[in-house]
Amino acid sequence: MPIGKTQKALKYEFIEEIKDNIAKCVMCASCHANCPTYELSRSETLNARGKIRLARGLLTGEIGLTDRVVNDFDECLSCMNCRTACPSGVDTMAVISAVRHEVHERRGVGMVARFIFSYILAHPWRLNLLAKIVGILSLFYTAAPRWLARFLPFANKGVKRVNPDFLKKNLRSSLSDIEPSGEERGTPLKRVAFFSGCMTDLAFPETGLKVIEGLKSAGVEVIYPKGQVCCGAPAYFAGDFTTTKELAKKNLEAFVNVDVDAIVYSCATCGSVLGEIYRELFPGDQQIRKMALKVVDFQKLVIDMSIESIFSAQENTRKLKVTYHDPCHLKRGMGVDKEPRRLLKSLPHVEFVEMEGADACCGGAGTFSMKFYDSSMGQGRRKVEWIKKSGADILVTACPSCQLQLTDSLNRFGHPIPVLHTADLIDYAFSGRRTTTDRK
Ligand code: SF4
Ligand code: SF4
Repeated sequence: MPIGKTQKALKYEFIEEIKDNIAKCVMCASCHANCPTYELSRSETLNARGKIRLARGLLTGEIGLTDRVVNDFDECLSCMNCRTACPSGVDTMAVISAVRHEVHERRGVGMVARFIFSYILAHPWRLNLLAKIVGILSLFYTAAPRWLARFLPFANKGVKRVNPDFLKKNLRSSLSDIEPSGEERGTPLKRVAFFSGCMTDLAFPETGLKVIEGLKSAGVEVIYPKGQVCCGAPAYFAGDFTTTKELAKKNLEAFVNVDVDAIVYSCATCGSVLGEIYRELFPGDQQIRKMALKVVDFQKLVIDMSIESIFSAQENTRKLKVTYHDPCHLKRGMGVDKEPRRLLKSLPHVEFVEMEGADACCGGAGTFSMKFYDSSMGQGRRKVEWIKKSGADILVTACPSCQLQLTDSLNRFGHPIPVLHTADLIDYAFSGRRTTTDRK
């Protein structure tokens, strides 16, 4: 229930912590530009300025934590466009996270999310089992006839959602031969650890293998610490900082004592959580900082080490017209946007074309695309138009969640070109193989 101005404001301790940040907002509306939820809805409370007003209202007692307010903070893609656009330096993401955390502490999350956060995420074998169950359900979903589609979730005009293939052997189970092993080809250029994250492990194991094998073929020793668990992104974005911190500690245990130059990832969201969000959750923790500073995107590592030529050695490959989608967490989270383009342009079989809106959010944002599927597809439709205009044969990105969302959008809006990770593109061009995200 909303509380009136005369009522005593509740104490919102997590929002209080960032009140200086809230106070910096001068309500100029520069953050409206490129806010995807605002662009589609034109609702003031779905942009950052509106959310900051709501946060102020909560602190002063003008409003209460109503269902509407909770929804307004939930219906946000965490795309960081508002933070980048703000001329006053307001950390809009900190405001959004603090309110979500407040909501989580007061209301908790739904039963399914609670079960997954509490009993699944920290246990890779349980997560794998859950993925297999979802994979089997997905088979029935995909096989359902068109007339049945209108009764199914995430289906529109007979077109069903494209789901990830969770039934394949996961990456973790395939990696016994690339455990820490020493380097057979003499002193390695670098020694790195690979952080796969859940989606690469369960839905895109072939991408993870290509990253590892690509790096190995360039003389980099790669290890896969098996103590690693989910980065915690689903819990963090649902405001559950306790679970995220527990997962962070497990990952710290897995990585802090391995003697590596870098921790490489191929999932933009995992990279942003390991490299940025853990530091926010553990301010001043030197071990977390040490781990975070080693975190690097696969493409950036390749460019920084100038080893892209290893991927250019193949001949007689067909020229592919390729465009690139910037994952929000890679460009605005980790500041990586030039390296993927440099890597793609270095490949002799690639004709790179830039598309309009390359860094616009795809609308996936993890569970956002499940909770707000129509809005998510609104973003997807816009993206598909830009992809079509680019004339590209293949769309490349560097985040499994974006890959799934873009594949689904392209399929839904009638332009089903392949959506590949950069590591897949390298292999795709050489072998002509198609990956699981290709849809005809
Ligand atoms: S968050 Fe920044 S850009 Fe948005 S209204 Fe406030 S000061 Fe302006
Ligand atoms: S994070 Fe993205 S979707 Fe959310 S308010 Fe900011 S710009 Fe809008």
